[in-house]
Amino acid sequence: MSDGALLEVRDLSVVFDGFRAIDGIDLTVQHGELRFLIGPNGAGKTTLVDVITGLTKPATGTVRFEGADLVGRKEHEIVRMGVGRTFQTSVVFEKLTVVENLDLAASFRRPLWSLIRRRRGVSDAVAAAMEITGLDVLAERPAGVLSHGQRQWLEIGMLIAQGPRLLLLDEPVAGMSADERSRTGQLLTEIAKDHTVIVIEHDMEFLRRYASQVTVLHEGKVLTEGSVDEVRADPLVQEVYLGR
Ligand code: ADP
Repeated sequence: MSDGALLEVRDLSVVFDGFRAIDGIDLTVQHGELRFLIGPNGAGKTTLVDVITGLTKPATGTVRFEGADLVGRKEHEIVRMGVGRTFQTSVVFEKLTVVENLDLAASFRRPLWSLIRRRRGVSDAVAAAMEITGLDVLAERPAGVLSHGQRQWLEIGMLIAQGPRLLLLDEPVAGMSADERSRTGQLLTEIAKDHTVIVIEHDMEFLRRYASQVTVLHEGKVLTEGSVDEVRADPLVQEVYLGR
C-alpha cells in the first residue's frame, strides 16, 4: 500500500448483465483528503461508492481500506471498519428529535453494554456530531420540522456519530440555497480536518470553492485527476462535458 493511502482501489470492474458500468478503475485516496468525484450521468460514480461500501460486488479488483480488502465483506461490517456513506434518499426518522437520530446512528458503533449503562446525557460522539454540524441549537426539535439543508447536515452528523474514518457523501448540496451551500462547504472543510471525505458532486462553482483534488469518471473509467483548475482545463473533460 502507498504511504499514507487510506483507500486503494485497483483494477476494479463491475458488470451488470454484460454491461461494464466500471471498467478497470484505479483510485488512491490519502488520509485527510477531501476528494471530489465528478462525471456525467452514468459515468459510474454511484456504482464505485456502492462497491466501496459493500452494496455491489465487483467482477474484478480490490478495494483496500487501511490495508484490508473490503471486497466480499457485508455492508454492516464495512460500516464497523470505519466507512460511512449518505444516500440520496433520506435515512432520518422524522418523529425522533435531532439528538435521538444522532444517538441512534451512534449506537450502531457502540458496544451493547454502553447502551444499557448510558442513559444520562449524550455520548461524546453525539456531542461532537452536534457541534461540528451546528445542530446543537436544534437538538430537541423533531427531525420532521428541519429545513432541507438542516436535514442534510443531520444526515452528515449521523455519519460522524458512527465514528468513521472515511465518509462518502452523495451530492450533499443538491437542492440547497446559496447560503446552505457555503455552510456545507465550510462543514466539509471542517470534517476533512479529522476524516477523509469523498464527495460525489456536480456543482462546478461549489467544486471551485471547496475541492482540492478531483477525480473525473467517464464511461466507467478514470478520465483524469487533479486540481479543479487542472481538470477544467483538460481538453478531454471539456469534450465530455461540453461536447467540444
Ligand atoms: P453515475 O452515478 O455516475 O450517474 P451509475 O454508477 O449510477 O452512474 O451508473 C453507471 C452505469 O451503470 C449506468 O449506465 C447505469 O445505467 C448502470 N447501472 C447502475 N446500476 C445498475 C444496475 N443495478 N443494473 C444495471 N445497470 C446499472
